[in-house]
Amino acid sequence: MLKNDQLDQWDRENFFHPSTHLAQFARGEAPNRIVSKADGVFIEDRDGNRLLDGFAGLYCVNVGYGRQEIAEAIAEQARELAYYHAYVGHGTEASITLSKMILDRAPKGMSKVYFGLGGSDANETNVKLIWYYNNILGRPEKKKIISRWRGYHGSGLVTGSLTGLELFHKKFDLPIAQVKHTIAPDYFRREDRSMSEDDFSTHCANELEALIQREGPDTIAAFIGEPMLGTGGIVPPPAGYWEKIQAVLQRHDILLVADEVVTGFGRLGTMFGSDHYGIKPDLITIAKGLTSAYAPLSGSIVGEKMWKVLEQGTDENGPIGHGWTYSAHPIGAAAGVANLKLLDDLNLVQNAGEVGSYLNDKMRDALADHPHVGDVRGEGMWCAVEFVEDKANRKFYAPYGKVGAQVAAAMLAQGKVIARSMPQADMLGFAPPFCLTKAEADTIVDATRRAVTSVLG
Ligand code: PMP
Repeated sequence: MLKNDQLDQWDRENFFHPSTHLAQFARGEAPNRIVSKADGVFIEDRDGNRLLDGFAGLYCVNVGYGRQEIAEAIAEQARELAYYHAYVGHGTEASITLSKMILDRAPKGMSKVYFGLGGSDANETNVKLIWYYNNILGRPEKKKIISRWRGYHGSGLVTGSLTGLELFHKKFDLPIAQVKHTIAPDYFRREDRSMSEDDFSTHCANELEALIQREGPDTIAAFIGEPMLGTGGIVPPPAGYWEKIQAVLQRHDILLVADEVVTGFGRLGTMFGSDHYGIKPDLITIAKGLTSAYAPLSGSIVGEKMWKVLEQGTDENGPIGHGWTYSAHPIGAAAGVANLKLLDDLNLVQNAGEVGSYLNDKMRDALADHPHVGDVRGEGMWCAVEFVEDKANRKFYAPYGKVGAQVAAAMLAQGKVIARSMPQADMLGFAPPFCLTKAEADTIVDATRRAVTSVLG
């Protein structure tokens, strides 16, 4: 085995880490962590630290680490048939079975699954399908996509544009012109603090309507949103939000994409976030929880309304000109089949709901009264603690990011629990694997309380 010093040197000399401060990392000013193994909800690094992974990797290892059933399924698939493509009607037992399993679990009205590799490319597929759809319907000007500030939909050219976080636009010449943003459904951040939740939802719908009118309804093709905001702050939607938003979209014949990359397959304690919030999407983006990240796989679930038009399009134009070499990769598909079976066999979606609400309740009990904790919020196995400088006046820290990072660092220094310091905010996020026990939830809450107290008193 390589020595840690050697790996550390190679890491800093050769490895381009995503979402990392490149200069600080290369100079050795930012820490690295070389993770070597994992089991259940714990990861272990090369220095021998064993940490409770309170974020399930990047909220993706939903069934927990070390699941032999998935490892075996992957190994068997690799031995039998490591690869075959899915173009011009080809497939494998795993990819066909998985598409059936997904549709059996999906919200009503969905028709087919297109497979990709990650959430970003799945949303890229969605945008292409939306443009194709409107071209086939003879409305070539109906192409713009509306997403929300603080939404997260990936970091490609189109998907990085859809993502409503400055950090993903800055110096990349994004967003592209066809993408427009409307306000985030973030009740905690509402400007007018006298508004009720319901009034704020009406305000969000009015803002959307105003944007559509400014741009021209005939130019707006689709609206994309996560059922519950994720990377942009782990924010459950205010009461009535989705009902009011969908009414606006229907009025203007605008398609709805539910980006369920995080919420799909159980994070909210229900199989899909769309069912949780009464959303009736035309397209659903899935990734992460589809395989619990044991292998890269994503999907676009296409609704019946769009599917009919896509079929018509190929009758008029020939085969659809869209496909990746690794679409429906058999190893990803085998991992997906084994993963969805495990979710059922171990009742993990139910556990996510039950232990998740325990975690949220305990976190609220422990921290809601702290003078610098502005909000403790969450849903299902998903929870956030947001810090403010002045609680009574809801004054945020400026510049943002420092205090959240300090608390996250204090937590790491305890060497017990990993939390995520969320971008463009002072906030800790938690999204543990669904197999978390109540005792492990207590460990997370205790570590958080101690870290908050050590930094903020
Ligand atoms: N959509 C959502 C809602 C996500 O949270 C993410 C990733 N965090 C993506 C899309 C992009 O997925 P990926 O990183 O796999 O490209």
